[in-house]
Amino acid sequence: MVLAGPDVELLQSVLQKLGFYTYNIDGVFGPRLLNSVKYFQSQFGLSPDGVVGPTTWNALFPYINGYTTYTIKSGDTLYTLSSTFNTSLSRILMANPQISNPNRLSVGEKIIIPFGNVVTTNVSYTYNLFMMNLSALKKIYPFITLGSIGNSVMGKAIPYAKIGNGSKEVFYSAAIHANEWITAPLLMKFLENLALAYTNNSSIYNFNARELLNQVSIYLVPMANPDGVDLVTGALKESSSYYQSAKQISENYPNIKFPTGWKANINGVDLNLQFPAGWEDAKRIKFEQGFTTPAPRDFVGDGPLSQPESLALYNFTLQHNFRLVIAYHTQGQEIYWQFQNYTPQESLYIGNTFSQVSGYELADTPYNSSFAGYKDWFIQDYRRPGFTIEAGIGNNPLPITQFNEIYNDNIGILVIGAVL
Ligand SMILES: [Zn+2]
Repeated sequence: MVLAGPDVELLQSVLQKLGFYTYNIDGVFGPRLLNSVKYFQSQFGLSPDGVVGPTTWNALFPYINGYTTYTIKSGDTLYTLSSTFNTSLSRILMANPQISNPNRLSVGEKIIIPFGNVVTTNVSYTYNLFMMNLSALKKIYPFITLGSIGNSVMGKAIPYAKIGNGSKEVFYSAAIHANEWITAPLLMKFLENLALAYTNNSSIYNFNARELLNQVSIYLVPMANPDGVDLVTGALKESSSYYQSAKQISENYPNIKFPTGWKANINGVDLNLQFPAGWEDAKRIKFEQGFTTPAPRDFVGDGPLSQPESLALYNFTLQHNFRLVIAYHTQGQEIYWQFQNYTPQESLYIGNTFSQVSGYELADTPYNSSFAGYKDWFIQDYRRPGFTIEAGIGNNPLPITQFNEIYNDNIGILVIGAVL
């Protein structure tokens, strides 16, 4: 197996975390990375051949996932284990609710030992990495609930995560546009930090996590368009028929770079122009702009909710009672808060609060993109606050080096959105 693109980035990232690789994360398997791999292998008792196969990945997985599965030996105590693995007792206890008496561990019992961070925020965020991160978070923080809202065109499950037990429900979604995938790790890092604060009984953005999560249930769909994300991040191989058909679609739109300009789902339908809120208006506007066939962006599809991903978001919303929704996009550092004359009064106050805590501008939606979006439909049908946040600044896909800035700008919105 030849490693390429995002897999190499992940390899570089984890070896960097471990101190074996000190160069840039560039997705190129060059001599420096080869030496780092060999050094890692020799330090971990593997044959130092530089080949990154299943054995080497297995040795790396605990450091990617932030936990290891440990078999209790005679004489082990949770205290000595927490010290050996440089972690805390409360994290071990939270990850292992089956331990009824921490003073009497059974030899041979397998436990989860969380010792690090999970969500990777310095590489291309592929569907595989997302799924790996999600299942690691579930292992470490079993109070997170996972489920699926439906499947993508290519048959990938579109997961949701729920954290909190309050009767109030809010919903945050991200990466509905393929080349805006940086918003997926944004929601994932928020989930991780919130779960960690809950475990440590500490605060996040000055709110006590346990108090917060007793009042609210936060639902997250961090990657609404997984096929599109895999196309843009390079996870979808050129040999795939889906890649080839996307490429053909893009040839009708030569002014849009392929695949980096791709926002649509893998069928070439813009999922955020699929909602039954002025869809005919969106169609008229986008057809006038020349997007009359499947396209890398701005094609509305053959009808509202004609694509499985938009339909899944729609149905998931109908099955809940969301008090507020936020749809994450990039870029522009702006907050859209209106839909026609349906906007509830409190949206202005909430939007201004979001603006204050993020430094983003509360903005009027440009007329040409003011129809058929997810938040448009939510505002229209529920008359409750719905927001589109255009995070970050620059050209999509934004470089992952902008991640920390985006996270710091948006953590206040994410927390306060659940509080208000
Ligand atoms: Zn977008």
